[in-house]
Amino acid sequence: MVSRTRHLSHVPLIAQAERHGARTAVVDSQGSFTYNDLLDASSRVATALLAGREDLQEQRVAFLLTPGFAWVAVQRGIWRAGGVAVPLPLNSTRSELEYFIDDTQTSTLMFDAAAETQLAPIAEVRHIRALRYDQVLAGQAAELPDVASERRAMILYTSGTTNRPKGVVTTHANIAAQIMCLVEAWEWSADDRILLCLPLHHVHGIVNVVACALWSGATCEALPRFDASAVWERIAGSALTLFMAVPTIYVKLIAAWDAAPPARRAVLSQACAKLRLMVSGSAALPVSTLERWKEISGHTLLERYGMTEIGMALSNPFRGGRVPGSVGTPLPSVEVQLIGENGLPVAPGTPGEIEVRGPSVFAEYWAKPEATRDAFRDGWFRTGDTAVIENGVYRILGRTNIDILKTGGHKGSALEIEETLREHPAVAECAVVGVPDLEWGERVAAAVVLNDGGALDLPSLRAWAKEFLAAYKLPSRLLVLDALPRNAMGKVMKPAIKAMF
Ligand code: AMP
Repeated sequence: MVSRTRHLSHVPLIAQAERHGARTAVVDSQGSFTYNDLLDASSRVATALLAGREDLQEQRVAFLLTPGFAWVAVQRGIWRAGGVAVPLPLNSTRSELEYFIDDTQTSTLMFDAAAETQLAPIAEVRHIRALRYDQVLAGQAAELPDVASERRAMILYTSGTTNRPKGVVTTHANIAAQIMCLVEAWEWSADDRILLCLPLHHVHGIVNVVACALWSGATCEALPRFDASAVWERIAGSALTLFMAVPTIYVKLIAAWDAAPPARRAVLSQACAKLRLMVSGSAALPVSTLERWKEISGHTLLERYGMTEIGMALSNPFRGGRVPGSVGTPLPSVEVQLIGENGLPVAPGTPGEIEVRGPSVFAEYWAKPEATRDAFRDGWFRTGDTAVIENGVYRILGRTNIDILKTGGHKGSALEIEETLREHPAVAECAVVGVPDLEWGERVAAAVVLNDGGALDLPSLRAWAKEFLAAYKLPSRLLVLDALPRNAMGKVMKPAIKAMF
């Protein structure tokens, strides 16, 4: 029997919204919306989804909307109806969308007018219910079920660099834990105002930006998509206190600043002083980018490490020294250990695989019990990333199976080699991979993008790099590209680079 209630929701994020009432929750191209607006719109969405039933009982509802208030109202509406929210990525191909929809056995699709032509036909051939947000809003709100926080809340798809993406299932309690550790560590408050310029199919935008803001009673200003000049305009013209992005976004913001006239540059740099914190994550932040951003903005970017399966795990401090090239220490409630190939914790200073335990760790891979089993060891989630602790802080060495290169009996980190090669005056960007070699096991192969007018060949790169890298870390293959292949989150797709060699 489902209990029905009008008192505070058991879904932690909804209960929080109920506390913030008339404060402004979201500002987007359509206007400014309060927490009360969010509760009202999400209850209409929930009522339409329920269509007379008491509880969706974890039916999956996939949705595709432009980032903004409507997106948040749909996500919350799905939760309030007892459903599992499956945010779909914008700019996907039909077959990618079909994969997410079929894999989750989606029962209902929700979209805005912009996504209708893409999703309505997919729903039709599958006989899936299709709901358009603006039409749903016109309906009434009915009583909603009480949803326990241990229930499944969301499925996010991993980047899936080698196999097909896996659906990462988190419960309401997992998401609340992922939020609370960041709210505490980065001192979120209702006075905060953050800009969203990240896509909403990934933990970075969904949890770190939107959910943390709406937990805290803060305001989230949403851009429909990243655009360097729009971001700079908001930094200059809006009362932002926080900004979070991936390293490639900072690279693009730096390029836009460089291209601006001197007087405008001064305005933009000065505006950065209003913000209290700027964060980078989801991929390694090149030290050169951190340094350049500091020159431009005065901010030492706070780098943190996390993953879809665990939310955020490691972070440089909000207060206190941030170590360039490091990701700091475990966040509140997150336990982290480094494990060697023998399955035991490594000695201090020795690289090991990161394992994570705590309330923020996901529940399971959707419909993949074996993959779920393999991902855990004695209750710890095996991240597949290698790190080392140096002077008390963690440094990420990369994905164990891609970035840890085994060459001539040595092990080297692709991320470390990239950090060095980026210092070469001709190199703008680079990605290092290992390519199989009969004699060496793997050879170091570097794909580079050159600065305008730059030229580079392998012998000259090796001669230059000899001074900084041990012989076994020197690239023995070089590929000059116009651009590195990157996914929607700006992450370099290393398997694609390996294939090029
Ligand atoms: P995703 O699940 O798409 O967020 O990807 C998570 C992966 O991104 C991690 O397993 C790491 O390999 C990588 N990653 C995230 N943050 C960092 C960071 N600060 N430095 C290096 N790699 C990172």
